[in-house]
Amino acid sequence: MTMNIVHLIEQKRDGGTLTDEQIRWFIERFTAGRVPDHQASALLMTIIFRGLDHRELATWTDAMVHSGRRIDLGEIGRPTVDKHSTGGVGDKVSLVLCPLVSACGAAVPQVSGRGLGHTGGTLDKMESIPGWSATLDLIAAHRQLSEVGCFIMAASAVIAPADSRMYSLRDVTGTVPSIPLIASSIMSKKIASGTEALVLDVKVGRAAFLPDPDDARRLAHTMVELGEAHGVRTRALLTGMDVPLGLAVGNALEVTEAVECLAGGGPADLREVTLALAEEMLELVGVDADPAAVLDSGAGMDRWRAMVAAQGGDPDAQLPVARHTETVTATRDGVVTDVDALAVGRAAWGLGAGRTVQTDPVSATAGISLHVQVGDPIETGRPVMTLHTDDEDALEQTRAQAEGAVVISRTAPPTGPLIRGRIGP
Ligand code: URA
Repeated sequence: MTMNIVHLIEQKRDGGTLTDEQIRWFIERFTAGRVPDHQASALLMTIIFRGLDHRELATWTDAMVHSGRRIDLGEIGRPTVDKHSTGGVGDKVSLVLCPLVSACGAAVPQVSGRGLGHTGGTLDKMESIPGWSATLDLIAAHRQLSEVGCFIMAASAVIAPADSRMYSLRDVTGTVPSIPLIASSIMSKKIASGTEALVLDVKVGRAAFLPDPDDARRLAHTMVELGEAHGVRTRALLTGMDVPLGLAVGNALEVTEAVECLAGGGPADLREVTLALAEEMLELVGVDADPAAVLDSGAGMDRWRAMVAAQGGDPDAQLPVARHTETVTATRDGVVTDVDALAVGRAAWGLGAGRTVQTDPVSATAGISLHVQVGDPIETGRPVMTLHTDDEDALEQTRAQAEGAVVISRTAPPTGPLIRGRIGP
């Protein structure tokens, strides 16, 4: 049958299903840069509204895996395990978790993404470290995994190239929040990376791409099923994303907070989620270690320094700082009863921490440092948050949104658990 991209878009728009042949044809042409962005975006938008059925998703994901190569990490000498988050505000967990789990005795081959929408991305954060590079060829990646025990790298021309292209297109076309698109994006690069096991951090709450707990649960089940079908032991934790994780939101700001956590400090919620994920990762590959003790021993920090240096970064370098800052103060006495992660994420995006067109550079320095979390007492005039940006006009445009994110009233509300569920073997 002769293929025509317009037919695929119309077929899906009208509620039909795509054949395996159509899906493989589309992914192959798209990866080769032979589908114009406007047509690829139109097809992705039909999937936002129409979804993909079970067979379509299995084929779509498999085609994305095979858009590059599936890496064989067979001779590392240690079990391999990776982690991926569905995207959050202030979610710098990977920066701590990757070296920590490696210091516990597993090898962590982490293929990460960039910021999507209002959420930050591990690669954008790491790139605020002077000299650090997200690009590793396969030989260098294999060597680093054997010698250092972990890496953080970008999907590439070899590892799920279809996802690299699709991810940046989805970021700027409003086509992120979809169970099949998120599941195939995450699982294609993770399956292709060659990891034996994977723990997913599926975010639930207003700043998650799928805020509804039932949708988040469905996403988790879908990804666990895709992983297991491709021979990757996969488990998911559902974790809360109503309020930012930690106090720092924005690329360089988050690196600083991750390093504090590696030094045994940092906010309690960041440490809690990191350790919960570390325990799952270690259990999944049968490594008997206590990640809290390893973190407190400084071994995770040593591994972080080695990983950063192996990828050209200077772990001692001064991180860039914003040209303009402005501190927002409390206008009443009381208790912080809410910090809206979606509003904070959007404000940080407006300050320059995210992209609105594919070619936008992200700012390393832009973001928000919070000075309070839910439950903290506060007095009039005390600092609530500091806005950071290199673009003075952006301060004007985002101030109100950022200020409105923090609610102060008389009594603190009860807070729910951060870890909201566990799915998988
Ligand atoms: N992370 C990814 O890698 N892909 C998505 O679609 C969302 C989060």
